[in-house]
Amino acid sequence: MLTQTKTMLLKAKLGNYAVGAFNINNMEIGQAIIEAAEREHAPVICQTSEGSIEYAGMDMLLAIGRELARSSKIPMSLHLDHGKNVDIVKQAIHAGYESVMYDGSSHEFKRNIELTRSIVSLAHSKSISVEAELGAIAGIEDFVSIEDQDANLTNPEQAKEFVKQTKCDFLAIAIGTAHGAYKFTKKSKLDLNRLKEIKKQVKIPLVLHGASSVPKSAVKKIKKYGGDLGKPVGVSNKDLKRAVKLGINKVNTDTDVRLAFTGGVRKLLKKEKDQFDPRKILKPAYEEIVDMVRWKIRLLGSSNKA
Ligand SMILES: [Zn+2]
Repeated sequence: MLTQTKTMLLKAKLGNYAVGAFNINNMEIGQAIIEAAEREHAPVICQTSEGSIEYAGMDMLLAIGRELARSSKIPMSLHLDHGKNVDIVKQAIHAGYESVMYDGSSHEFKRNIELTRSIVSLAHSKSISVEAELGAIAGIEDFVSIEDQDANLTNPEQAKEFVKQTKCDFLAIAIGTAHGAYKFTKKSKLDLNRLKEIKKQVKIPLVLHGASSVPKSAVKKIKKYGGDLGKPVGVSNKDLKRAVKLGINKVNTDTDVRLAFTGGVRKLLKKEKDQFDPRKILKPAYEEIVDMVRWKIRLLGSSNKA
């Protein structure tokens, strides 16, 4: 059932858990995410990136999102992930997404405030909430020095000022996670003390990006059936649970869904050499995604919160 993102995240903040936000590119991924959320009785956010909009078209993704919401029994919203292009963000606001992310993090602090504030004022006039980003989301190990790290991760004092001036509804913070499957060279390492400090300064729901777990079992399955991803490293279960306990209320996951999908497709094609029915090829991928998303939802503590 269609629900405002803000409603779900404020409830999550009160209950001290995180709502999973999963990226969708097509119908099957969306259906699998909703089935997982229904089976866990969990609220869920489906989000579309600029890349998925380029792939499928905003109208198509919106139509899929509307139908998923209409036919689902759990609270669900459609969110624009990482809108960097102001025109796409505005298009999503007018099209009727429940929430948008405006990512002005590549701009310097003052410019990020200005641009975010103008998006917030437009979105709020249409009762749509806005996620903003402060700090650069790249892995801790990407930074060569401590000063370098300090300049790129979210500064707690700046975060307070940023939220006050932009009036954004949720804030994506940089505490050492990175996008993609190769987040760390060795072990998961998040700056959880920084998260504690940010939490003291910022009262709106906080968002964690680049939070895929990259489970070894998923990587192994892909390898077993002919793939090879090298040695990817994701966020450890322990770090993710701690981050949620310390006040993260929305956790973005894309890579884990892609891994599940790929494992399912590879397995089927390897086992059934004469199969050429797309529906049969996608069935195991669908089931792998359902299992992966259920597992993530439990990790985030949002089971039975619908
Ligand atoms: Zn992100």
